[in-house]
Amino acid sequence: MAEKLDYRELGLKVGLELHQQLATTHKLFCGCPAELALEDEAEDRFIRKLRPTRSELGEIDPAALFEWKKGRKYIYDAPINHSCLVEADEEPPHPLNREALLVTLGFALSLGSKPVNEVYTMRKIVIDGSNTSGFQRTALVALGGSIEVEGKNIGIQTVVLEEDASRKLGEKDLVTNYKLDRLGIPLIEVATAPDIQSPEEARNVAYHLGLLFRLTGKVRRGIGTIRQDINVSINGGAITEIKGVQTLELIPKAVEMEALRQYRLLKLKALLEERHLVYSNAITEIHDLTRVFTGTKSKIVSRTLKKGGKVLGIALRGMKGIPGFELTPGRRFGTELADYARFWSGVGGLFHSDELPAYGITEQEVEKVYTVLGLDKEQDAFILVADEEEKAAKALKAVVDRIKQAFKGVPEETRQCLPDGTTRFLRPRPGSARMYPETDIPPTPITIHLLKEAERFKPPHPSVLVKQLSDNYGINRQLALQLVRSPYLDIYTLLAEKYRGKLTGTWIASVFTNIIPMLRGEGVPVDQIPESALKEIIDMVAKGEVGKEAVEEVLRKIAEKPDRHPREIVEELGLTGLSEDDVRKIVIETIEENMNAVKERGERSFGLVMGKVMAKVRGRFDGKKIAEIVREELSKYSPRGI
Ligand SMILES: [Zn+2]
Repeated sequence: MAEKLDYRELGLKVGLELHQQLATTHKLFCGCPAELALEDEAEDRFIRKLRPTRSELGEIDPAALFEWKKGRKYIYDAPINHSCLVEADEEPPHPLNREALLVTLGFALSLGSKPVNEVYTMRKIVIDGSNTSGFQRTALVALGGSIEVEGKNIGIQTVVLEEDASRKLGEKDLVTNYKLDRLGIPLIEVATAPDIQSPEEARNVAYHLGLLFRLTGKVRRGIGTIRQDINVSINGGAITEIKGVQTLELIPKAVEMEALRQYRLLKLKALLEERHLVYSNAITEIHDLTRVFTGTKSKIVSRTLKKGGKVLGIALRGMKGIPGFELTPGRRFGTELADYARFWSGVGGLFHSDELPAYGITEQEVEKVYTVLGLDKEQDAFILVADEEEKAAKALKAVVDRIKQAFKGVPEETRQCLPDGTTRFLRPRPGSARMYPETDIPPTPITIHLLKEAERFKPPHPSVLVKQLSDNYGINRQLALQLVRSPYLDIYTLLAEKYRGKLTGTWIASVFTNIIPMLRGEGVPVDQIPESALKEIIDMVAKGEVGKEAVEEVLRKIAEKPDRHPREIVEELGLTGLSEDDVRKIVIETIEENMNAVKERGERSFGLVMGKVMAKVRGRFDGKKIAEIVREELSKYSPRGI
């Protein structure tokens, strides 16, 4: 089913929301350090039950109410050096961190965003206990602007300063455990307009926004310090918000998978129409099918029945093949139904007729279900849930609701990104009535004085960057410009700095502007090469453990199998282990083998000897150094040397 989609024709629209932690001296609303606690730091612990709060309009978020009704409890670990009474919600927040505001303003100015006149801190309701107060504090700092990526302007909607949430450590049954160190670390949130039109473009925009963040010089680095959410829609689909996209590399994959999912859901809708199905006729009431499974061999089912549970089911008339309809690789419409069932009732899962017999449920039992429900095996489908009666019924109600939405097309959802780029239902998209003013914090007027001060954190313009790179690492302007436009500027700067004096800036640049693009041109999946592997192979070159000539081959192999270690590949290719002495031996040996030519032509036989040595050494030693050794050894045979 690997359909190649034409994103223009599909009307793909993508907007990004990036969250970057700031490395300010303290948190956004208290004096605690803006960093994570040490592993062994002493901590207090307290338990809370959060109540859903009404918004100003008197509405209660249905999802919040649902969580509360379930009776969920939250355990908070409070590290003594990285949290205080503010994080515990026992003390009002302190005034907004001025440094964080300045960095956010500087960032906003570089995008041409227009700062607001006064910054108001608002409360945004959160329902998962990640904020002890039950809301996240957030402040709009600037509106509008744009970022140019590969010649195209991508609109910026908002630049916001907000507090990060607590770290989730674990979850079991109705208890969730959080650590408070991350709560209150300042975050810049930047949201783009839905101007992005392809998976690759989404990656590039995220990269360039990430680069601007880093150029403020005030951001935290490392895993989890930048988080990206993606909004995706196609023509006739709906806006899906994808959360938890951990790496840059995953962005294009997640966009691709979501476009495919929406495209397939529209196909599913067309299929339902083609079969002339009407929702109200197609789905039956909930039936108790427990009797069918008396003495069943299915472990899952018999365990439920032993505990006094039931097997409930619904018939789906005319829907054979619908639950088994594939949306993204490995995820079927039935998987979506199961996600809804899990979310709204807490059951472990469901069975659908397209996947049965399986899980110990036999052919005979399937036949019996068809008979009891009065269904036609060739045309109809059914869904079963085995659990406590009330839970199972609730799960099937959620399934029915989700099927109803399939008749309309794509539901608006918030989804969780999985490691392979596919997504899973997380919750319905929140309504808009979720923010109200934070009365504990006075507004901050944006004065000319403040704006002037913010200039200090404003990331440099690309042309300034080009000059800096060229001056710092001795590379020409053209190469510097290529680097600024490439997704590798960051890692380049890091490596050029680290190996200053060992490797030239120009050679390191050539890995990113020459070798990688060349491999990409050959169709090698270079985006899969992990940053760690790039660092490792260049480190090996710097240490003389492998020749520069080997880099291309090693990267090609890693792109194909990104979980492999460069060292492993170097060894496998037989590219390791040559010392300068080894190389000198090979050179002398080669000269001896070609003594006639050497005696005749002296140093003019350099090309001949060099070619033969290179063929023997094959990337196991640096070519430039080999040339030096060849010259040295040859000079001993030159007429003057004899
Ligand atoms: Zn604190």
